[in-house]
Amino acid sequence: MKKIIVAIDGFSSCGKSTMAKQLARDVGYIYVDTGAMYRAVSLYCTRNGWMDAYNMDVESIEKNIGAVHLEFKINKQGKAEIFLNGENVEREIRSLEVSNGASRVSTLRAVRRELVRQQQMMGAERGIVMDGRDIGTVVFPDAELKIFLTASPEIRAQRRMDELKAKGEKVLYKEVLVNVKERDDRDQNRKESPLKKAADAVVIDNSTLTIEEQQRVLRNLFDQRVGSAG
Ligand code: C5P
Repeated sequence: MKKIIVAIDGFSSCGKSTMAKQLARDVGYIYVDTGAMYRAVSLYCTRNGWMDAYNMDVESIEKNIGAVHLEFKINKQGKAEIFLNGENVEREIRSLEVSNGASRVSTLRAVRRELVRQQQMMGAERGIVMDGRDIGTVVFPDAELKIFLTASPEIRAQRRMDELKAKGEKVLYKEVLVNVKERDDRDQNRKESPLKKAADAVVIDNSTLTIEEQQRVLRNLFDQRVGSAG
């Protein structure tokens, strides 16, 4: 059967990765979390002193982005983990600080150009489910199935908070909601590849859907597209 590309875009913390991961597992495709790639770049820049909570040394970041090598490896539990220049940084990139940095560093043209290049290489053979902000619009405009996933900011903040709490991070709901809204604003209004729905994307609002309901909708769409891809 012909393999397709599934592009899942949408706002932060609306469950794109849960959705994408599960579909990839069910149909035996590769899953790529492009947010993790921007997060790893954010960590790299902070560690090198090119970025803090207030400033960004754009020149140094742009000059050195070519030295960032990103790779996903599957761990013993079958989960994909991201490696930054050979080091497993999966845990470190999930903090609120790194989230914020990722949303800032992803506004830079040279960063986007390099990561899009790496993402296109990962999907060259198709048979991939990729989630992010610009997958259906920039990375794979020819993807056979494009989803634009959305949910209200309040619901997304609550979900994000539950996730962070489960990892032992102490955070306030108000703080997480502000972070979600700031990232939405930055994602939608940046000059380089802003978050927007591709004209041919299917919108799924999962504010009131269970994960099972959401996956059923997605799987039906997937089966239809594979069918029509021949
Ligand atoms: O999806 P996640 O929240 O992990 O992404 C982290 C940040 O990376 C987002 O806030 C967004 O600004 C950026 N991003 C992006 N393009 C992508 C994926 C993520 O700009 N394809």
